[in-house]
Amino acid sequence: MSGKIRIAGGGLSGLATAVQLARRGFEVEVFDRHHGGGGRFAGGWQVLENGSRELDALEELRGMGLEPDFATVPATRALFLDGFGGTHEVASAAPYAYFVRRGPDGSMDSWLRSLALAAGVTLREGVPAPAAAEVVATGPRQADGVARELVFASDLADTVAVLFDPTITPTGYAYLFCLGGHGTFGVAQVRRVAGLPRASELAWRRFREVLGEFAVREEHEHGQFMNFSVPRRLRAADGRWYVGEAAGVQDFLFGLGNRLALRTAGLAAAGIVGRWDARAFSASVQRPMRTTVAARFLYERLGRRAFAALCRRASRTDFRGLLLRLQRPDVAKDALARLVMAAWRERRGCRHAGVCGWCREREQ
Ligand SMILES: Cc1cc2nc3c(=O)[nH]c(=O)nc-3n(C[C@H](O)[C@H](O)[C@H](O)COP(=O)(O)OP(=O)(O)OC[C@H]3O[C@@H](n4cnc5c(N)ncnc54)[C@H](O)[C@@H]3O)c2cc1C
Repeated sequence: MSGKIRIAGGGLSGLATAVQLARRGFEVEVFDRHHGGGGRFAGGWQVLENGSRELDALEELRGMGLEPDFATVPATRALFLDGFGGTHEVASAAPYAYFVRRGPDGSMDSWLRSLALAAGVTLREGVPAPAAAEVVATGPRQADGVARELVFASDLADTVAVLFDPTITPTGYAYLFCLGGHGTFGVAQVRRVAGLPRASELAWRRFREVLGEFAVREEHEHGQFMNFSVPRRLRAADGRWYVGEAAGVQDFLFGLGNRLALRTAGLAAAGIVGRWDARAFSASVQRPMRTTVAARFLYERLGRRAFAALCRRASRTDFRGLLLRLQRPDVAKDALARLVMAAWRERRGCRHAGVCGWCREREQ
């Protein structure tokens, strides 16, 4: 590769790749179809998960040379709602996640945009990316899953609530986060996506019953789709690099892709400068993703009772510790994932990038 790199997509993975390459002396251009960064999101809360590995997520960023200078709210408590009207308070000593904003202002996106500008990256915003860009970071291509979110201002006290009721969201979950007067309510489903509007209505009602009345102002609703595929590699046969959701990387269980997106940016940047680390890719992307395939299989088979039992268990132990145990890759989970992947079959004719190694067959 020459010293010039064009990156299609200026979200988390595109900008993180850009920063790392610019610092290594590359002349980097990032193309995004939106102006101002974070164009895919509306300023709502997301989590940077901190329960999949011992290493703290912010430390991981520091290790990539990305000093995390953006607003974070450490998450150590949450309220889980089960399908029987029960509520369960969970807590952890260390944060099980960090709440971060996604969108144009005061967000992870604007932080990375500043880092990119400081590193000398040229941002070309409001223009389509050139078809021949060397790095593809344009996010999802097709709807493997769908989410619907309401971002709003509110007088609700700080709240982190998650609903696990398979009668409302049979292949997903609903969440309501309100921190410092900024609220985000969402429902995500990976199958039976046609039922999303109804699920959203029922979940909203349930949160209102539990949390009481609260003001909803300046609301903004948006729908999104998501990609999930376990990539075989990050560099496609045509020599282009795929990072973030463009490569399909998200956990199959809850659709958490931020940390993986940033990780693939680090791996791809190293690969572009000739230091591709196949072992790190397998250990930090493919294997953890397969663990989440196994987790999704179990999730879709659990009934209301099992979810309620899981919520109870979460409330009786350190929640981050439980997450670490459940997500620790091991031989049994890997074997289960491989069986599930065979049973669910690889999707034929998928529209994922040329790096897709396995994705689930589409629901008809
Ligand atoms: C509603 C919702 C909630 C989520 N919540 C969480 C969460 O709480 N925690 C978590 O870890 N993950 C969450 N995710 C997943 C997470 O947002 C993604 O995995 C992550 O943003 C992927 O980063 P990325 O860099 O691949 O893509 P993005 O950050 O989406 O960036 C893609 C960029 O490409 C640009 N683009 C697209 N097409 C083109 C084009 N043709 N030309 C130029 N530019 C283009 C877009 O404008 C965008 O800026 C959520 C996803 C959704 C949809």
